[in-house]
Amino acid sequence: MAGIVLFIVSCLMFIIGKLSPSSSISLPRELLTHYICNKLRLDNDAIELASRDYGKLVQETPLGVLYPSLVDDIATLVKFSYDSPNPFSIAARGRSHSIRGQAMAHNGVVVQMTSLKHSSYDSGIRVVRNPSSLLGFYADVGGGELWIDVLLATLEHGLAPVSWTDYLHLTVGGTLSNAGISGQAFVYGPQISNVHEMDVITGKGELVTCSKHINSELFYAVLGGLGQFGIITRARVALGKAPNRVKWVKMLYHDFSSFTRDQEHLISINGGLDYLEGFVVVNQSPPSNLRSSFFSPADQLKINSLVAKHGVIYCLEVVKYYDDLTIDTIEKELPLLLKGLNYLPGFIFKKDKSFVEFLNRVRIGEIELEETGTQDVPHPWLNLFVPKSTIMDFNAGVFLEILKKQNKNKGPILVYPMNRNK
Ligand SMILES: Cc1cc2nc3c(=O)[nH]c(=O)nc-3n(C[C@H](O)[C@H](O)[C@H](O)COP(=O)(O)OP(=O)(O)OC[C@H]3O[C@@H](n4cnc5c(N)ncnc54)[C@H](O)[C@@H]3O)c2cc1C
Repeated sequence: MAGIVLFIVSCLMFIIGKLSPSSSISLPRELLTHYICNKLRLDNDAIELASRDYGKLVQETPLGVLYPSLVDDIATLVKFSYDSPNPFSIAARGRSHSIRGQAMAHNGVVVQMTSLKHSSYDSGIRVVRNPSSLLGFYADVGGGELWIDVLLATLEHGLAPVSWTDYLHLTVGGTLSNAGISGQAFVYGPQISNVHEMDVITGKGELVTCSKHINSELFYAVLGGLGQFGIITRARVALGKAPNRVKWVKMLYHDFSSFTRDQEHLISINGGLDYLEGFVVVNQSPPSNLRSSFFSPADQLKINSLVAKHGVIYCLEVVKYYDDLTIDTIEKELPLLLKGLNYLPGFIFKKDKSFVEFLNRVRIGEIELEETGTQDVPHPWLNLFVPKSTIMDFNAGVFLEILKKQNKNKGPILVYPMNRNK
């Protein structure tokens, strides 16, 4: 049974909440004289930065921001609050790419996890390539590491994590606190299904190792736990052999039921594709929107007239990995996988990219937006799992009835199926 994941980012303007009025609340004096206060910033720049996130919809002002260089700094801070008669709130902050203040701590302390990056002997990225290990290949990675750095470090060993997010400049702790979903999830499940073990600082300030077998309640609470059950300082992430290159294909549909039928068929093939997503294209939403400039200007014109004709079209996006061993067979294998699909004749577009270029595709789109300044707007964002049984109603009610009629959307709308058992 397949469900559908949907991401909606739009660039509508919202009024940003005002900063909370300054108050007389302050952090306990003992904390301010403690040795970790050297790593605690109370200045406006640090406070201002930690009061904002990617969503730009809410603001919460902390009293201080901890820039830890050791895992122990975080444990000390949490223990301090736990033991204090006036405990204060603490939030781990990765890249703050949340959209509703999830990494903020009103009148508390924000822990800037990326400051651990490469600065600590107990953080960093360590790849284990021991064929006799029961776990297979894996990497121990610090909670503040960025996924792009995990990719580059593991590739040096010919390996890579198996499950990704579309965007890689996010922290390991940040996405494991959510789920970490992308087009590989139909094969491997989300990122949280590919973690063997973690080190977590609990609400009492204790550093605890947890896995399916040890402290399993903590393990399952922290994975997808929105930062509410502990701070991840290390995750043991499953790795697989990395390909060198990818064949990347996009196909356009006018008919939503053909589009979802083909998506579901493709994810049901064992050993078939390596990545599958899809998106909705409405008038005014450039088809490559934030997700790299895939289409040539000439193709873009062709697509624009198709959108103008139909109002809404759908794009099915797939990838097949290959390497030196499969370079000769990929050209035969891919057409076989795509045989019998019902995309609009003539509307199939192909690219050949390196594995890193493909995985890092959203960053390229982001840089383009940063250059035009259009990135600096609020990002209301909604992710939904819709049961297969109602996805046609969703199309009729939302994509056709609202989006097509209002003709206003500017952000990407991703639609792709997920196997419930993953
Ligand atoms: C452009 C863009 C594309 C995206 N694409 C995808 C996608 O394809 N798939 C997907 O699944 N998500 C995607 N996301 C969403 C993203 O995964 C989440 O917003 C994630 O939380 C961002 O990670 P972060 O490092 O910025 O975390 P933050 O926003 O800093 O933190 C998120 C939450 O995790 C907590 N947290 C942070 N670090 C830790 C830690 N070490 N231990 C415990 N809790 C912690 C925070 O307190 C907060 O509650 C995307 C976001 C953006 C901006």
